[in-house]
Amino acid sequence: MKVLVKYSLKELEDYVESLGEKKFRAHQLFSWIYSKSAVDFDVMSDINKDFREKLKNDAKILDTKIKKKQVSSDGTIKYLIEFQDGNCAETVLMRFDNRSNLSACVSSQIGCYMGCDFCATAKRGFVRNLEPYEILSQILTIQQDTSLKITNVVFMGQGEPLNNFDNVCQAIKIINKYLNIGIRRITLSTCGIVPKIIELSNMELVPTLAVSLHCAQSNIRKTIMPVENKYNLDELKKSLIYYCEKSGKRVTLEYVLIGSLTDTKEMALKLCEYISDLKCNINLIPYNPIGVDKYKKPNKKDVMIFKYLLESQGKKVTVRLERGADIDAACGQLAGRI
Ligand code: SAH
Repeated sequence: MKVLVKYSLKELEDYVESLGEKKFRAHQLFSWIYSKSAVDFDVMSDINKDFREKLKNDAKILDTKIKKKQVSSDGTIKYLIEFQDGNCAETVLMRFDNRSNLSACVSSQIGCYMGCDFCATAKRGFVRNLEPYEILSQILTIQQDTSLKITNVVFMGQGEPLNNFDNVCQAIKIINKYLNIGIRRITLSTCGIVPKIIELSNMELVPTLAVSLHCAQSNIRKTIMPVENKYNLDELKKSLIYYCEKSGKRVTLEYVLIGSLTDTKEMALKLCEYISDLKCNINLIPYNPIGVDKYKKPNKKDVMIFKYLLESQGKKVTVRLERGADIDAACGQLAGRI
């Protein structure tokens, strides 16, 4: 069976011609797959029945399966998606009552090899990169399942997207062009792979960048994020300044507040110093427990003090709403488990 989401428009044209049909049928198919999120060939009303039958016998749209679906009390939906080789990764649909956005949080790898000590994905180890079509399939699966149109995509699921650079960039191009999602509405989150941040900044299509900073003091950052040993905070900052200059955008800094470790007043002041010359917004993420807990959640008062200290530097600070924690869909809780 052919899998149509693997094909570019050109390849799809060749394919429909090989079935004895005119090229323009490929455009119709493409529009059904990407714009209308068709679940199967039967709904493709402008394609004649004979050709639909041929397609049914020879091809399918996606080759992924929803292995498990969980709906949180806050409306977040977590899908465990199974790929052709039996590996699974999560995709999360987040909706916010007060906004019309529908964000898909997609995985870029099965597992991850960056080893951040507080993250469930890291505990799973690294299995493999996802192909561009496997990234797209996650978004199409949500659209098919909910009949809703995704408006924003965030690469914040399993994996380090900059360690799967080519496939992620290829997926971004298609998301932008065929799913018609503006490049500002596509956000890539990285733990700070410096050379790849530079490479990304030089691309034609530069997504919004989020960086998992989590600590602005090198010796402590090293204990929770091994990437600090390779690309330290100073180098990281240079690459972020470059990103801002090249793209004209602000960078988002994600900062996990771990109780009594990264949430202290001293750490807030370190962060203020680090960001004083950076065009950035700050997104504070209260630590989500991942089972084996040597780290703890911050208390509400410390979160508010931390936020206040940053705001007094004139920075825009948001505290990330905890989405889907009751179904283990919150940040850092994705590990491909059933
Ligand atoms: N590898 C990329 C993409 C993952 S995004 C990156 O590091 O940015 C997932 C976000 O959730 C990251 O900011 C990650 O650091 C954060 N995270 C991981 N574990 C967490 C936890 N237990 N609680 C809160 N946030 C966590």
